[in-house]
This record gives sequence, structure tokens and C-alpha cells, in this order.
Amino acid sequence: MRETMGIDASETRSLFKEADDALFFAACEASQQVLSHAGVPASVKASPLILTGDCRTRPICRHCKWEYFKAESYDSFVLDRPLSEIVDHAHYLADLGIDRAFTATGWMGYRLPNEYLDAVAAIHDAEPRLQLFGLFGALDRQSHFDLASVGLAGMLTSLESPSDEVYRSFRPGGDSLDDRLRALEYTREAGMSIWTGFLVGLGETEDDAAWGIEAIARFEPESVSILPFVPFPDTPMANHPAADPLWLARVNAVARTRLDRTPYFFSDHDQKFDRLYAERIGINGSYETGIAARARS
Ligand code: SF4
Repeated sequence: MRETMGIDASETRSLFKEADDALFFAACEASQQVLSHAGVPASVKASPLILTGDCRTRPICRHCKWEYFKAESYDSFVLDRPLSEIVDHAHYLADLGIDRAFTATGWMGYRLPNEYLDAVAAIHDAEPRLQLFGLFGALDRQSHFDLASVGLAGMLTSLESPSDEVYRSFRPGGDSLDDRLRALEYTREAGMSIWTGFLVGLGETEDDAAWGIEAIARFEPESVSILPFVPFPDTPMANHPAADPLWLARVNAVARTRLDRTPYFFSDHDQKFDRLYAERIGINGSYETGIAARARS
């Protein structure tokens, strides 16, 4: 699908020629304009709602932080809870003022098993204060329509990397970049909101980033997350350098400027990026895993 999309990224590529200050200023202006026209809240807080820690991707991804979280029993990610506990956690997140939860598992194949549909339906019915997005990797068309029918508002489906070569360098198994592009099309067909983006700092070029921004622009996303690669201990990529914050900020700023109808851009809970750049380029979505974890303890 990547090859047949016929994307011309030349205009987006030209934005990368701008100096930092001009680029960040343009991004901030684009952010203010879209919010003044969109009639939506100025910011949004999102938190994960883990359904299970299962994943059928084989071999597993070389950067997989879930493997690290599972080994370390990381507080923010409680795995394999019964449905009643998942629903309780949804109430807990809404009580904290979280606006949006993304129901997550590893990749369970292209056809989402029925128990996940049942879980989404139960959460949707029990906790109407939370806007529910699904984080399931690439699914088939039927699964998208099934999820829409049980109340899912949108899908969080990242491209992971806009370069096929880079994608397979850290994700040797499981679904492909083409599958993910198709999944965005299915999300749109099913009438759900699209939340997408990609990781930076994994060897992608400026041309790759420009192509990725143009590709996601095709789907008119409601939210975008362009996030830094962060190495985790005990993974095969533990020694790979973390993404450069300035490169991350510049890719986000180009995307913010180009995607001038997308209300929300999310940053990771990476303090260095938040402190240096997030406000300057109009990042207005946050991942609230830290707050959720602290309040649980
Ligand atoms: S899809 Fe990859 S990164 Fe995600 S849980 Fe599975 S192995 Fe880990």
C-alpha cells in the first residue's frame, strides 16, 4: 500500500529547511488556529487501560518495553486483570480527570478475539466519562466495524516507522507498515476517530519523516503522537541511542504545521522533551501514566 499511495512529500520536505525558531513559531500558530476553529477542549489527558499483556508477534519486537514492564511489574501497567478490575480502573482514571483511555494489548492477530470486544463494550457501558480508543496493532476491516459497534470512539494505530526498512529493523515479526496503513483506512470507513503517528530516532531520514507526515495527513487524524524511541533495559535495543530531542521537536513542528486540521498532538512523558519543546510547538495532549501510577500507590 505504501508504494501505491502516490504521495508527493515535496512541500513537507521544504518545511524541514526552516530554522528552528521559524519552524516552532509556525507550529505554535497552527496549533492555536486549529483549536480556535475546532470548538474542542484545549488539551486532553490520556492514559492506558491494559486489557491483557498477551501478544502474538513473533519474533517479538526488538524494542519491546512491555517485556521490560512485565519483568519489572511496572506500577503503571498492571497486566492480565479480570474484567471487573479493568472496569474499576476505568472508573479510577475518570475520577482522576483523565479524558481518554486507550484499551491496549499486544498484537492479537488481524481478527480481534471476541473477548476483547466484550471488554470494550463493558468499559464503554460502565464508564461514559472516558473517551475510549483502541490500541491493538493492525486489525482487519471486520474488527474495526465490530469495535465501532460496541462503542469505541477511535483507534490509536501508529505507523511505528514511515520507512519499511527501519520498521522491519526493530519489528521483525507481526503486522507490517502496509497493514497499519490499511488499518487507518478501515478506521475511517468504520466512522471512528484516527489517532496515529510514528516513532523517531530509529534511523529514519528527513525524507522518511516527510513521507510519514504526508501519509498520516491523508487520513485527517484527530490526534497525532510522534514519539521518541526510548531504549529500555533488558531489551535487544537497550544500547541503541535515545532519540535526539531537537530532531523529535522538529519532526513534531513540521507535522503540527502541515496537519493544520488536527486538534491534538501528544508528547510522551519524556521530561526533557516536555521541558524544552512541547509548549513551544503546541503539544496539547499528554500521557498520564505517571499521575495514574502515583495515585494508585
Ligand atoms: S507488538 Fe511488539 S512492542 Fe507490542 S507488545 Fe508485541 S512484541 Fe511488544
